[in-house]
Amino acid sequence: MYDIVIIGGGPCGIASVIEAKHAGLAKILLLEKGENHSQTIRKFYKDGKRVDKEYKGLDSTTKGSVEFFDGTKESTLNYFDKLLDEGEFEAIFNVEVESVKKNGDYFEITTSKSGFKAKNVVVAIGRMGKPNKPDYKIPPSIMNLVNFNLNNCGNGEKIIVVGGGNSAAEYACELGKCNDVTLCYRKEKFTRLNDINEAAVYESEKNGSLKLLLGTDISELSNADGKVCVNFTDGKSEVYDRAIYAIGGSTPVDFLAKCGIEMNGEDPIIDEHFQTTTKGLFVGGDIASKKGGSIVVALNNAHTIIDYIVKNK
Ligand SMILES: Cc1cc2nc3c(=O)[nH]c(=O)nc-3n(C[C@H](O)[C@H](O)[C@H](O)COP(=O)(O)OP(=O)(O)OC[C@H]3O[C@@H](n4cnc5c(N)ncnc54)[C@H](O)[C@@H]3O)c2cc1C
Repeated sequence: MYDIVIIGGGPCGIASVIEAKHAGLAKILLLEKGENHSQTIRKFYKDGKRVDKEYKGLDSTTKGSVEFFDGTKESTLNYFDKLLDEGEFEAIFNVEVESVKKNGDYFEITTSKSGFKAKNVVVAIGRMGKPNKPDYKIPPSIMNLVNFNLNNCGNGEKIIVVGGGNSAAEYACELGKCNDVTLCYRKEKFTRLNDINEAAVYESEKNGSLKLLLGTDISELSNADGKVCVNFTDGKSEVYDRAIYAIGGSTPVDFLAKCGIEMNGEDPIIDEHFQTTTKGLFVGGDIASKKGGSIVVALNNAHTIIDYIVKNK
């Protein structure tokens, strides 16, 4: 029987482990479906990405025992490596939690491989397990040329990046260094970019490494001789080697339902301690944040959750 099982090894899960250890909880288990912690950072941050402590104007003051600093993708992963290596707890990777069920005064956690029991459970699985997809169909024959991160990109390609947030801007500026890149956003103006990314986008446009297609929406994709033909709502079309969508992620509602978490639409119903309507079952990090979260917000959620668990033991 664990004092606490933490599902998801991203910033919220890692901070939950560290806070739980500091608070004196003895039996702690972290379950992560990837082969290592922080899958969102590994898969969706481009190499060398600047990681901002103050992100999207969200709270940037850490409240618990886990500090955070401006850095890069690599320094952030190194920092989380060290935090995990220093703590004494159990962690199992490559294990996907399938459901959580309350049974009397404890929880049964079922994974793809086995099962565990715990007095408290923190669900911190983020939103990027399911990146948002466009609502038009992507033809299966060009699926390999339509990506949601930078993993498969080469050099010298003609690429369209779709989205108007910081991820889209960073992907486009990075790819623009060695590809022919167009950044396509359906609105006339960027409204969600931080100052640095906004400046980088316009600088890249000025120096010719990025084309901007603002106020333009896409109606569908089709296959043009094995390439991606993008058909725009204004009737125009253009052929690209690759399309990259950076349009965020969505709440894993099916998984939360399997955990018996009551929802209000896409949002889990939680109180100020991030406790769901089931006592002892908590939700933290991106899935607890209506507008999309940040690393510091995830760390702070962990602090609030563990503080509450320890004070109400
Ligand atoms: C491209 C991009 C750039 C960003 N840049 C910044 C930035 O500069 N600064 C900043 O503060 N924030 C940034 N963010 C946001 C930040 O990454 C998130 O707010 C933060 O990662 C949320 O942490 P989390 O722990 O809630 O979830 P995540 O980091 O998403 O971690 C969830 C973990 O749970 C695991 N998991 C999922 N399902 C299961 C399951 N069923 N069983 C077991 N494990 C599971 C996943 O594999 C993953 O490792 C950025 C996000 C993106 C996508």
